[in-house]
Amino acid sequence: MKASIFLFHRVSPQRDKLWDPLSPERFDEILKYLKSKFEIYHAEKILSLTPTLSKAEGAKKPLAAIVFDDGYKDYIEYSLPLLKKHNLPSSMYVVTSSVESGSPPWTYVLDNALANTKKSKLDIDISLLPAELKNTSWKNGSDKIAFAKKFKPYLKKISDAKRRTIFEQTIRSLNDVEAPQNLMMSWNEINQIKVAGTVIGSHTVSHPLLSKIENEKEIENELSLSAEKIKEHTGDFPLTISYPIGSFDERVKKIAVKTGYKFGLAVDQKEYESVKHDLFEVPRIELYNEPLLKTKLRINGTLEKIKKVLR
Ligand SMILES: [Zn+2]
Repeated sequence: MKASIFLFHRVSPQRDKLWDPLSPERFDEILKYLKSKFEIYHAEKILSLTPTLSKAEGAKKPLAAIVFDDGYKDYIEYSLPLLKKHNLPSSMYVVTSSVESGSPPWTYVLDNALANTKKSKLDIDISLLPAELKNTSWKNGSDKIAFAKKFKPYLKKISDAKRRTIFEQTIRSLNDVEAPQNLMMSWNEINQIKVAGTVIGSHTVSHPLLSKIENEKEIENELSLSAEKIKEHTGDFPLTISYPIGSFDERVKKIAVKTGYKFGLAVDQKEYESVKHDLFEVPRIELYNEPLLKTKLRINGTLEKIKKVLR
C-alpha cells in the first residue's frame, strides 16, 4: 500500500523573511488540487490499514493525508475553516512545552530573533562555531539573513546539548527582540480542534532533533512526557509521534515503540510504501510557500524525479 502524507506548518497572511507561512489563498488552492488527485483520510487511519492491503485497493484514487506540525494557533483561524470547506480531515502534532508556555519552538524563536534584531553582531562564544560562521557580525539586513541561513542548518547538525548552549547564548545576545507570544494553541484550543475532528499527536516536549540527543533517557522524556501531557489534557494517549525536523534513528524508533506510540513520522519528500517503510519511519512530503506549479510537482513526486535525473 502506498500513501502520500503532506506536511504543513503555518497558514497565515502574515509574511516572514526567514520562514514564510503558506497564504490562506494558496492553501485553499492546494487543498482543491489534493482533493482532485487523492482520497484523503487521517494519517492514523491510513497507517492502520497497512496490513490489510485490500482495503486501500478499493479506493478509486491514491491515498493521502494532511498533517500539521508544531501547533500554531493560525491552524484554527485559517487552516481549519478551509479544511472544513473542502471537507478534509487532518492531524496536528503539538510541542507540549510550547502549549504550556505559549512560546513557539526554538526553531521559530531563533528565526524571529535573527530576522528582527537591530543589532549588528551576534555576541556568543565563537569557539563553539565552525570557521565559516566565526564572523558573527553583519553589515546590513541581507548580510544578516545570509548569516541566518547558514547558522540554523549548522545548529541542526551538532549535538543537542551544544545546540542548546548556542541557542541560549544567541537569544541572550539578541535581547532587543521579544519572544513572540500568542502564536501557539492552548490546551483549550487543542481540545476544540479535537472536537472538530482533528487527530492530536505528539511533536515532543521541546522540539529537539531526537537523533542528536546523546542521552537515551532524554529521548525517553521527550517522547513519554509529551504523550502523558496530551493524555492528561485531551483524555487520549497519542497514537503518533512526529519527529521534529524529521530527525530520528534506531534508538528513537525503539523508544517510540516502548513508549506506546503506534506511528512515527519523519520528513522525506517521498510517498509512504508499506513494503519499504516500517510504521516508525513514515516519510512525509513537506509543502512550502512557493509557486503553485512547483508545489504541484512536489505533490506528484515529479520534482524529486527531476532532481534525481539532474543529480
Ligand atoms: Zn516542528
